[in-house]
Amino acid sequence: MREELMSLMEEVRRANARLIAVSKTRTPEEIKRAYDLGLRDFGENRVQELLGKYEQLPADIHWHLIGHLQKNKVKYIAPFIACIHSVDSLDLLKVIDKEGFKNQRIIPVLLQIKIAEEETKYGLDEPGAEDILASYVKGAFPHVRIVGLMGMATFTEDLGKVRLEFRKLARFLELVKKKHPDYAGEWSELSMGMSSDFEAALEEGSTMVRIGTLIFGPRD
Ligand SMILES: *Cc1c(COP(=O)(O)O)cnc(C)c1O
Repeated sequence: MREELMSLMEEVRRANARLIAVSKTRTPEEIKRAYDLGLRDFGENRVQELLGKYEQLPADIHWHLIGHLQKNKVKYIAPFIACIHSVDSLDLLKVIDKEGFKNQRIIPVLLQIKIAEEETKYGLDEPGAEDILASYVKGAFPHVRIVGLMGMATFTEDLGKVRLEFRKLARFLELVKKKHPDYAGEWSELSMGMSSDFEAALEEGSTMVRIGTLIFGPRD
């Protein structure tokens, strides 16, 4: 794992982006090995699994929730989560804000935008995201900090298509920053790119790539 990981880390760093190691289905031992090689950001898509690992692994890990999040599970991760990438509804954001208040912290989140063609993918459409951002800038969610956008491209070999979807997400971020220039600095993150498409994502402006398979090998 070592050599490949070092060059992946270097490639991501050169692009001024952050590497989120997607550790779903991996054991705490596998995660600890990656940690020992210098990784500190890990992404999980299920709350239960995340909690088990959070308890066993070093406290200076930044845990990212990258999968669909149910409102009734927010309370479990609110005390420690570094970033929730998958905010896909106003109701979910309200719950995160409430749990942020209870924990006396401001929880960083990304709005997940639907950029893929597939019907099954979660995510907001652009008007839905704009509505949320408009309430946010009025101060509706004081215990949440929206730091940018997340997107998942269509699952296809067609990297040209994937690239256009990433570009669309980057353009949408530019658009909302223009509309709300006071937040242009705060809305700086673009979470896009996985093992199969992270290079295109970096070229299109990704600041956080979420990579599992390339780091840990295939999942069963
Ligand atoms: C599993 C997953 C990834 C990582 O996928 P790989 O192909 O293993 O790199 C990235 N983002 C999300 C939301 C995921 O669920």
